[in-house]
Amino acid sequence: MKNNNNLLEIPNINSKDAKLKKLIYNVDDSLFNKDYYSNEKFEHLCVCSGGTTSSCAKNGFTTLDLRKNYSKIHLDRKSNLVTIGGGVIMGDLVNHLQKNNRSFPIGLSKLPGAGYILTGGVSPLSRAYGLAIDNIESIKGFLGNGTFISLKKNKIDPEKQLIWEAIKGAAPFFSIITEMELKTIQSNPIKVIEGFVNLNELSEIIKLSEEFPENISLQWIYAKKIYIYVFAELKNNLEDKRTEDYLILLEKFPALENQLYENFNEVNFFPKELNLYELNANNHSEVISLLGEDLKNDIPIFIKCLNEIMDNKPNNSCYVASQQLGCKTKKLNNGSSFFVHRKSTWKPWIYASWKKNDLQEKAMALDWIYKSWSKLKSFYPNVHLAQLHNHLNSHEEELTLAFGNRMNELKTLKNIFDPQGILPPL
Ligand SMILES: Cc1cc2nc3c(=O)[nH]c(=O)nc-3n(C[C@H](O)[C@H](O)[C@H](O)COP(=O)(O)OP(=O)(O)OC[C@H]3O[C@@H](n4cnc5c(N)ncnc54)[C@H](O)[C@@H]3O)c2cc1C
Repeated sequence: MKNNNNLLEIPNINSKDAKLKKLIYNVDDSLFNKDYYSNEKFEHLCVCSGGTTSSCAKNGFTTLDLRKNYSKIHLDRKSNLVTIGGGVIMGDLVNHLQKNNRSFPIGLSKLPGAGYILTGGVSPLSRAYGLAIDNIESIKGFLGNGTFISLKKNKIDPEKQLIWEAIKGAAPFFSIITEMELKTIQSNPIKVIEGFVNLNELSEIIKLSEEFPENISLQWIYAKKIYIYVFAELKNNLEDKRTEDYLILLEKFPALENQLYENFNEVNFFPKELNLYELNANNHSEVISLLGEDLKNDIPIFIKCLNEIMDNKPNNSCYVASQQLGCKTKKLNNGSSFFVHRKSTWKPWIYASWKKNDLQEKAMALDWIYKSWSKLKSFYPNVHLAQLHNHLNSHEEELTLAFGNRMNELKTLKNIFDPQGILPPL
């Protein structure tokens, strides 16, 4: 890892450009010394795992970079549980697991780190295996007051139950997770049907997808053009026959192509042809993720709304995309996580970027994000807090729409376990 004292070598360009006050690699007592952080600037400790968000490093703030000393991965071949450090990125996890023919429901990119898991974790495999948080078996880490915690599913003392539930979806606000034990899954072949479509075709494909069984999911991205992926896990002959019955309905879309992959690891989302700006070193960006239920009869008005949003985008880097959840993500919760919008079946996200020193373009891009969000609210009223935005005006609303009726419990946990506000604010 290349870095000098006050810069981080990470995928998110906003955070990569931040001039850090200090970079720390270990969780030790000094981290929890309030004297470190200045009250006046609402300064807090930033935590970096995969480094894919705009909140893991900030000008003048200290970052705890977990990638160096919390990067171990160990698969127990008997239990098929994998133990990972809090600084492991999802690509390294699935590469390790694949050597033993196992896998994990990671998201659409291999770059995100433990933040992917702790904030929920929506995967193309989630309809069959749940969210990433539904696959956590145990955790170790520290609360914001410096107390060490070690929690194991089904062995939680009643007084720790709320902490366990909140770790699954809201961990960053009151804890630093240094280790997690996760369930793994059998690695199976994947069939992907992908390609460019027009708006009418997208409308038809969304309609078909709302009837998909749990092993098939749709993801689409509307940048300059619209690209879709229908992702199907192939498990056994009986189910594969049923899967084919659904996939055959996609044959009428001429530009779509079938690809068969030996395993999930080999699938790469977001093709180069889309020219996405995500990793463009000259740009800064923000993204807001939403949650909502099936569109059903609203598909035509949603498509009209999407068209308007894309007509108004301030530059070519902006896009709207969506991934499908549902099936198991609705069932696996048992009331026990802070991913509260379990009825959700779609997670769209709005992405905007701007030339990094162009404040006018930044203002226009953020304005577009907020206006687009406002338009999409009638279809997707809730938020998936995959990115912390305590540096943006929308933070409070995002929190309320993400944690719903559990917001007060989260505030209580924050007050008790991070009383000095060392971790990101609520
Ligand atoms: C290209 C791309 C594709 C994505 N696809 C998906 C997807 O398919 N599904 C999905 O659900 N999300 C997806 N995301 C969103 C991503 O999972 C979240 O933004 C996630 O929070 C990023 O985690 P990170 O560790 O990489 O980020 P970081 O920037 O390192 O961390 C983000 C924040 O999480 C907290 N955090 C991270 N690690 C820890 C820890 N060990 N203990 C306590 N707090 C911690 C910190 O507060 C930190 O500031 C995608 C993001 C990108 C960039």
